[in-house]
Amino acid sequence: MIKKEIKITDKISVGKDFIIIAGPCSVESYEQTYEIAKEIKSAGANILRGGAFKPRTSPYSFQGLEEEGIKILSKIGKELEMPIITEIPSEKYLDLFNEYVDIIQVGARNMDNYFLLRELGKTRKPILLKRGMAATIDEFLLAAEYIKAGGNDKVILCERGIRTFDNKTRNTLDIASVLTLEKLTDLPVIIDPSHASGNWEMVERLSLASLTIGANGLMVEVHNNPEKALSDGMQSLKPEKFKKMMDKINFLKPYI
Ligand code: PEP
Ligand code: MN
Repeated sequence: MIKKEIKITDKISVGKDFIIIAGPCSVESYEQTYEIAKEIKSAGANILRGGAFKPRTSPYSFQGLEEEGIKILSKIGKELEMPIITEIPSEKYLDLFNEYVDIIQVGARNMDNYFLLRELGKTRKPILLKRGMAATIDEFLLAAEYIKAGGNDKVILCERGIRTFDNKTRNTLDIASVLTLEKLTDLPVIIDPSHASGNWEMVERLSLASLTIGANGLMVEVHNNPEKALSDGMQSLKPEKFKKMMDKINFLKPYI
C-alpha cells in the first residue's frame, strides 16, 4: 500500500523520507541531552528522542525526570530546531504533552492501554505507537485503529522487537513485519533496533537491514557516556559510531 505521509514539520514527513529519530534513552540532565542532541543533529538525525517518564521493569530503577525532563527536551528541541518525541505514561499528562511535545510516543508496555489510545485519538499530535512485547500484527493494527477511530489518523508504527523463546537478544526483531504491514496498512513503519537487540554492536547492521527492507525510518538510542547512562547504556551508540552509521545510511539511500 502507498504510505500515508505524516507531516511533522515543513521539512520532515514520515512515510516520505527515511526518518531518523535519535537521542538518549532517558533525559538525565540538560547538559547530557544537549550534548547528545548536538551530535546527532550534526550527523543528520531529524528528530530528537529522550525519555522523561521511564516505564522500567523494576520500580527501583531510574524512573525519569518526568515533567522537568519534558521541559528540558522541549527547550533543547527549540534551541536546535529539532522536533521532539517522548513517551506518555498516562492520559492524565495529555495537556503537558500537547503543550511541549511534537510526537507522542506510546511505549510497548502501553500498546494495549485502550483508554490511553482512545484519548490520543482526540489529539492532533502525531503518535508513534510501539508494538507490544507479545502483540501479534493484528493486535498491533487494532491498537492503531483505536487512535484512528478517535479521530487521529497520524499514527506511525514502530517495530521494536517482540518476546520469543530465544533469549540471546533482548527481544526478537521481527524485521519481516515491515513487509507484512506494507500489505495491510498505509501507516508508516519505523524500526527501533536498540530495544530490539539490547546490544549496541548489533544496531548498525539492523539499521541498514531496516533501510533495505523498506522501513520508513529508525529510532536509535545514542549516549555520550553509555557506561554511565541511567538506562539502556548497553544498547546505546556513542555519537562517533552513530555518525559512521549515518554515513552508511546516506550512502545506501539512493540505491533503495
Ligand atoms: C523507549 O523507547 O525508551 C522504550 C521504553 O521503548 P519500549 O517501549 O519499546 O520498551
Ligand atoms: Mn531505552
